[in-house]
Amino acid sequence: MDTALLAAPQLYALLQRCDEDLAAAQRAAGCPRCRATLHWGSYPRKPRGVPRSWIVGDWRRLSLCCARRDCRQRATPPSMRFLGPKVYVGAVVVLVAALRCGPTPARCRLLEQWVGVSRHTIVRWRQWWTETLIATPFWRAAAAALMPPVAIGQLPASLLERFAGGPRDRLQALLRWLAPITTG
Ligand SMILES: [Zn+2]
Repeated sequence: MDTALLAAPQLYALLQRCDEDLAAAQRAAGCPRCRATLHWGSYPRKPRGVPRSWIVGDWRRLSLCCARRDCRQRATPPSMRFLGPKVYVGAVVVLVAALRCGPTPARCRLLEQWVGVSRHTIVRWRQWWTETLIATPFWRAAAAALMPPVAIGQLPASLLERFAGGPRDRLQALLRWLAPITTG
């Protein structure tokens, strides 16, 4: 995994465009309850644990709300930027946790300085992959399709390896694969 990818502000822009596409598709489908028009109801999210070069652009979580007063159903599209209810950014959680696989103390210190999160947080991100994620119904269904099975102890690096292309393509494909869990 190329560490330079984490520092690239273009990666953020790419993921933002992906989120805009996912939200546009949700909006085109209409209200999930009554099929009426959906209005924007996005909300601000203060990102944490983000490389300095990413503190750019628009950090709203894109969300939609039914226009009908008697419905008001909220529809939150999948996201490639925000991982689940966490304030942490999906791409960073993937990359940092992947880099943490086979760590050296020097590499850990570098990641702490670079991303500005504590060693404790990085350890929790690793636990999210190797304990929390694998207990979800999403994982049980989606991972069953991966042959041979991915090595749980090496997540998320072992999952990144399953997607084709360069580092950025793999990251994008993994986040898209994971996007269903971000809708709660
Ligand atoms: Zn509705």
